[in-house]
Amino acid sequence: MAPPLSADKLVEALKAEGVKVVGHPGWRDNNRNHKGAWGPVNGTMIHHTGPYSTEAGILEYCFDGSTPLPGPLATGVIGKTGTVYLIGNGRANHAGGGDARVLAAVTEEDYGAAPPAPRYGQGDADAVDGNSHFYGWECVNSGSGNESWPKAQYVAMVKAQAAICRAHGWGAKSVIAHREWSNQKIDPRGIDMAGFRADVAACLAKPAGKWTGSVTPPPLTVEQRLARLEAKVFG
Ligand SMILES: [Zn+2]
Repeated sequence: MAPPLSADKLVEALKAEGVKVVGHPGWRDNNRNHKGAWGPVNGTMIHHTGPYSTEAGILEYCFDGSTPLPGPLATGVIGKTGTVYLIGNGRANHAGGGDARVLAAVTEEDYGAAPPAPRYGQGDADAVDGNSHFYGWECVNSGSGNESWPKAQYVAMVKAQAAICRAHGWGAKSVIAHREWSNQKIDPRGIDMAGFRADVAACLAKPAGKWTGSVTPPPLTVEQRLARLEAKVFG
């Protein structure tokens, strides 16, 4: 539990970790703090964006949102080449409703390979508001199951999460997937979270900026493995 990082501290932490940071125009004043609490913060959450046409388009969408889901939709967007685009500074519409049991496990960093499976999601009477408790990172990927996670993007995802954890004095168990928060979500598809957290832990074990990202390559998705098998058999 902690007060959220200021915009300057957030930039400083990300840069110290060695990621390329680009502030989307207006990001410092873009938040939903007028609609609900921002903080105390207890963790940081990764997502996939879902279908998209261009990276520039997804930045605009995550900044503005839509009528039913106003922006910002993330703290930042992490692009295919590993650039971290800052989108919002404060409460963002990304986590939605989730499970208090997960929030407790993350806050205490008290769980094994994964937090307890979430029982609730957005709109459920027993769900708790994740937007006040988690930083949110939309990682550009269609979520189709066939789209790979380039190493540069994966490394930036790990480093961005490590930056938040290091700045707050948290460990890797403060990092969760959206699907670990809400029982209505599958994202980020293709990212094994136990391996991802192991990489965040490896990054945190080194001084900021020294981790090179060689521990756990993102695993192939089931669909990618099937495609390979098909190519082997029929190709
Ligand atoms: Zn999500």
